[in-house]
Amino acid sequence: MDDRDGVRQVRRGRVWLVGAGPGDPELLTVRAHRLITGASVLAYDELVSPAILALAPASAERIPVGRRAAGCRHHEARIHPLVVLRALAGHEVVRLKGGDPMVFGRGGEEAEELEAARVPFEVVPGISAALGAAARAGIPLTHRDCASSVTLATAHAAGPDADPRLASSVPREGTVVLYMGLGRIQATCDALMAAGRAGSTPAAIVSHATLSTERVLVGTLGDIAARGRDEGVEPPALLFVGEVVGRRVASPVAQRPTIGTLPASASARK
Ligand code: SAH
Repeated sequence: MDDRDGVRQVRRGRVWLVGAGPGDPELLTVRAHRLITGASVLAYDELVSPAILALAPASAERIPVGRRAAGCRHHEARIHPLVVLRALAGHEVVRLKGGDPMVFGRGGEEAEELEAARVPFEVVPGISAALGAAARAGIPLTHRDCASSVTLATAHAAGPDADPRLASSVPREGTVVLYMGLGRIQATCDALMAAGRAGSTPAAIVSHATLSTERVLVGTLGDIAARGRDEGVEPPALLFVGEVVGRRVASPVAQRPTIGTLPASASARK
């Protein structure tokens, strides 16, 4: 509190909307790393990896946010009330989100609420899952020979079927990366085929990208859903669709061993 001219003024803190990347702590930005290691209040989504949360000081207040967070009854699309309260009380709050805050992360909605509450905020970008997964799986998202666009889309819908808007929002050509779609992957593939994508289009599922449990499965739009089911692939996962999947590259020397996964070279080759 400042006491200026006899008027007590609250010194506002700030909320940092920070992208935590896809999971591997080494993929944090320098700024994200600095903010996390110096955090006094940390609010985080369930997708933020334990290895990243472990970077925060033991003394930091930790606020789990998200669907499965215990005692978290506020509507998902709303920023956690404690985040606003702490910032209004003068704290610097690190609001950690998986990937990039502005890619299917509701970062825009949370920022709108902070704006309305007159809480200063700053967005710190992160590596979105599509970029992390593509790098790990060796999938070039664009390629001069076959893909001049990338569409990041979500297969998420309230019901068990694919969102009917999906087919109309995804172009007939170019690379498509689908977030949040594992539960309805068959319906999603069917929708893309109904919209004109051939069943023979190369497709891949990348799950747990950049983590030690990462898996890469490659097939076609026509069979990738069944492959994913047969292999028991678990979320979080992304579906890649497009000719670029067929242009996958693999370093002749393994970059890093992965534990408990199919070796990239064996799992990814058709
Ligand atoms: N803001 C995040 C996306 C949040 S939506 C970002 O930019 O990455 C959550 C979805 O992201 C998951 O359902 C999954 O489709 C994808 N995802 C997040 N982390 C992932 C990972 N490590 N591997 C594969 N997919 C991931």
